[in-house]
Amino acid sequence: MAGLAGGPHGPSGAPAGGPPGAAAPLKAAPAGRPAVFLDRDGTLNLDRGYAWRWEDFEWLPGAVEALRLLQGQGLFVAVVTNQAGVARGLYRAEDVAALHRRVAADLERRGLAPPPFYHCPHHPDFTGPCGCRKPAPGMLLQAAADHGLDLSRSFMVGDKLSDLGAGLAAGCVSILVRTGYGAGIAALPPTALEAPDVLEASRLILKLAR
Ligand SMILES: [Mg+2]
Repeated sequence: MAGLAGGPHGPSGAPAGGPPGAAAPLKAAPAGRPAVFLDRDGTLNLDRGYAWRWEDFEWLPGAVEALRLLQGQGLFVAVVTNQAGVARGLYRAEDVAALHRRVAADLERRGLAPPPFYHCPHHPDFTGPCGCRKPAPGMLLQAAADHGLDLSRSFMVGDKLSDLGAGLAAGCVSILVRTGYGAGIAALPPTALEAPDVLEASRLILKLAR
């Protein structure tokens, strides 16, 4: 993934306050819309470890319902996934893209809008440092630039501390799910939230987003 810096800075309206004595300005429109960033493996689908074939993709219970719930409330959803299997030579970036096309088609068949998928193909041991591998926030920043998102009103949901790290680094409310690796995580960052699974996380998000 290239070019993470320099997303467009949307017009943010008049400066706060305005000149003394001026008529009260209309409240500036928000700079972007809120989003929900979802980790993939262990959050939306069963984590089989470096799986890349559609045949190995299995939705976790409640995952499709979670997407329906979030999109039904007008929240923008994007998937952000570390795929170090590419750096490790286990599969190719094209294989990741092909799987995501199959997942998107499956969601369309279920009447859902397919979310954009962002993946990090790197691993520091094989490809050196990068800004996109979670817990770095690069994929979230890229999605915000691509889709005009307000990260300060957005959410990150995942089953690893690296998901929480990426979300918090991007300024999002971050929620650990207890599926996948989340079942074994004892201590969370103090500002993180938790939920049993992605559907419960989505219900929590809808309460918080009000
Ligand atoms: Mg995961």
